[in-house]
Amino acid sequence: MQTYRIPFNKPPYIGTELSYLEQACAVNRKICGDGPFTKQCSAWLEEHTGTAKSLLTTSCTHALEMAAYLSGIQPGDEVIMPSYTFVSTADAFVLRGAVPVFIDIRPDTMNLDETLIEDAVTEKTKAIAVVHYAGVSCEMDTIMEIARRRGLMVIEDTAQGIMSTYHGKALGTFGEFGCLSFHETKNYSMGEGGALLIRDPEYVEQAEILREKGTNRSKFFRGQIDKYTWVDFGSSYLPSELNAAYLMAQLDRAEEINDARLARWNQYREGLQDLAAKERIVLPAVPEGCVHNAHMFYIRTKDLPERTALIEYLKERGILAVFHYIPLHSAPAGVRFGRFHGEDRYTTKESERLVRLPMFFDLTPEEADDVLTAVHDFYREN
Ligand SMILES: *Cc1c(COP(=O)(O)O)cnc(C)c1O
Repeated sequence: MQTYRIPFNKPPYIGTELSYLEQACAVNRKICGDGPFTKQCSAWLEEHTGTAKSLLTTSCTHALEMAAYLSGIQPGDEVIMPSYTFVSTADAFVLRGAVPVFIDIRPDTMNLDETLIEDAVTEKTKAIAVVHYAGVSCEMDTIMEIARRRGLMVIEDTAQGIMSTYHGKALGTFGEFGCLSFHETKNYSMGEGGALLIRDPEYVEQAEILREKGTNRSKFFRGQIDKYTWVDFGSSYLPSELNAAYLMAQLDRAEEINDARLARWNQYREGLQDLAAKERIVLPAVPEGCVHNAHMFYIRTKDLPERTALIEYLKERGILAVFHYIPLHSAPAGVRFGRFHGEDRYTTKESERLVRLPMFFDLTPEEADDVLTAVHDFYREN
């Protein structure tokens, strides 16, 4: 494995994690799921997002699987989603036998183009799965209005969107379900993990049963019943307390982590303004009403060959910059399970020229300057 002077990502580590882990192991003596740290994380998420209920899960992928099941998705149902996303957005619905119907993205935010949704609706359409790319919100007013009018569920893949808002409201709380990720590449981490945000209390009991192997164990622990049993379909979606302890250490310092990321993001943006003004690159857009979380800093080059050359140039200087999703409709499983509705005007073209610069909690201002210098040198020489 090649090591880089400036890697693309470092999992967030603030220094208090080990004392939280020690608390779980040596004091609480509770390391399986749903102990004090899991409850604390859930309470934090409920308080900070305003959702009715949050359940910590083993991943965002699993939160999406739970959302697909709880949405009542049946074989043959269609779910409208962007093609420019991570596989899990589609996988969760394909597992239930549904067909992902991919639509094009907006070139400014790389989010699904809300004006193309209605044309993709058929009598089989059951849900819209939105992805808030780079922690910048989709146009939720329009999307929720369409969903209400057409009787569709909305599932938000909010893997990248914790701390972000749309007109003051937390991402992941608009649709019936919001799915967060705490993978090591995300703003706050527990190694592998996630959370399901549930907007309507009517889904909570079924969600708890689904997460706890199909049993009513959550009710039992709350003392609402005197023995627990197998009551419905289920799996095991609860993370260990060790993971929750690590996450809680970071949630307790959430603002500090967010501010540090935003400072580097703004540094990149200001430092690259000149190249954007000369139309050598395109900078990310943050539409009016959206507050983002600096999950990612990406630029768009002229085209694929220029992107490849830039990545190679940075690599030679010990800096790892990376491209992102291969559109799902062009992947083998995407061809097999889904279809693209309408014209691919931007998905392929924009994905081929997008490159992400190093971005992580303890990226220093000097390192970010180093990256900026290297990008400028590339464009001076090319
Ligand atoms: C990271 C990510 C996921 C998957 O998250 P896991 O917690 O690793 O399952 C899903 N969707 C998007 C958009 C992501 O960025």
